[in-house]
Amino acid sequence: MLQLFDTLSRKKKPLKAADGKSVRFYACGPTVYDYAHIGNFRTFVFEDVLRRTIELSGTPVNHVMNITDVDDKTIAGAQKAGVPLKDFTQGFEHAFFEDLARLGIKKPHHTPRATEHVGAMIELIRALIAKGVAYKTADGSVYYSVKSFKHYGRLSGLKMDELRAGARVENDNYDKDNASDFALWKAHDAGDGEVGWDSPFGKGRPGWHLECSAMSTQYLGQPFDLHAGGVDLIFPHHENEIAQSEGASGKPLALHWAHCEHLLVDGRKMSKSLGNFFTLRDVLARGHSPAAVRWLLLAGHYRTQLNFTFESLEAAEGSVKRLALFRTQMLELAKLKPDYKLTSAKIEVGTDEKAAQTACSAAEKAFDAVLFDDLNTPQAIAVVFELVSETNKLLATGSLSEKSAMLVLLALEHFDHVLGIFPLMEEKKLPADLRKWVEEKMAQREAARKAKDFKLADKIREELLEHGVLLQDTPSGPKWSPA
Ligand code: AMP
Ligand code: ZN
Repeated sequence: MLQLFDTLSRKKKPLKAADGKSVRFYACGPTVYDYAHIGNFRTFVFEDVLRRTIELSGTPVNHVMNITDVDDKTIAGAQKAGVPLKDFTQGFEHAFFEDLARLGIKKPHHTPRATEHVGAMIELIRALIAKGVAYKTADGSVYYSVKSFKHYGRLSGLKMDELRAGARVENDNYDKDNASDFALWKAHDAGDGEVGWDSPFGKGRPGWHLECSAMSTQYLGQPFDLHAGGVDLIFPHHENEIAQSEGASGKPLALHWAHCEHLLVDGRKMSKSLGNFFTLRDVLARGHSPAAVRWLLLAGHYRTQLNFTFESLEAAEGSVKRLALFRTQMLELAKLKPDYKLTSAKIEVGTDEKAAQTACSAAEKAFDAVLFDDLNTPQAIAVVFELVSETNKLLATGSLSEKSAMLVLLALEHFDHVLGIFPLMEEKKLPADLRKWVEEKMAQREAARKAKDFKLADKIREELLEHGVLLQDTPSGPKWSPA
């Protein structure tokens, strides 16, 4: 079972499915006013790995991710572009789903849009007013009274005496120093233009925090099992979600809270507001592969900050290429095509396969163990490369049989249930392309050697090595293998 750090109790604890059947999982989704940047995708890849690890443990997951398609930023963006809000947000929502697919992130089972759930939000506000924890203001807005919720601040560690008594914030985003009553419903004003819904409190629109409270419980019930997001959402967003949902029903919102640390650039959070961001599209346009981006994001533990550099992305590129070559080599040895179908039951293991079998089953166990211990993806990657080097040792001694290569392929498949890297490479036909490229380079080197241009021949050899390909001259001609 997965042991996962819980932000609320501040300790690792087993992640359970309360109904004994499936883990009900809510993740805060994107605000669709621009393309998402790779910092955002660090959190979305983390949530994908979290889901895949739970699935690997044998428990199905019901994954819900909202789409914030109405808030201050989307309204401002639509006005600047001079188009209706829906037209503006739909393009970015579509781009977001495209980006998720490019990074091999499994699509959540439900992706509710805020604008299509305003009725449920209004109901929640009514319940909060009835309980006496929310109040209307003269302009037709509704605010949550944080002082009236005794658990306010428990998730983020905010102390009640740090609250500014009676103060109100209209903006959805504010810091702990300005913790105050926050808007559940924002009365319509000139800045909102066409955007607004009629409600018992007057025309207006919901606050951002309210969107998640209403949609999560509508799709998953209350309490649900797991709530996740980036660490910047702990305060005020998740604190406010808890206040709203628990304040209305008296029941906890979620039983487990998981937060992913930030992706940094030069030591600062990658963010739109600081302008130090790269969208996934920027990075791919520079010629990087989605597989390398995913690999880079997996290479840091989710509870540790990760500094982004193009050098580290290059290194990730090298790692995925090495892995792709290794897989190609195993496919060749196993005499299988990339789309092979294989189960361990079909492989008759004999004495020739003993060594590979021992190495593979130890690696699979180690892989599961490190992931089930608070999702240690860097360790999981280390396990994968340990198996690569064990296998290379067997190859070097000539003791890797055809069936052994099949066992190694099955181990790679096991890892990929969570790492999800090979489908991204197949999409780009990386192994095939790379192979062709390697063969072309080898032919060029042979031509250089024939022309006695040994300098060029060595340069090509080095170039291959830089791409993780080791060239060796054997009595039967040059042969390549993963370095
Ligand atoms: P947003 O679209 O701004 O609401 O953000 C979507 C998700 O990305 C949220 O879960 C944020 O916590 C997360 N996020 C934003 N910036 C970063 C970053 N630099 N590193 C990791 N996650 C981030
Ligand atoms: Zn949310």
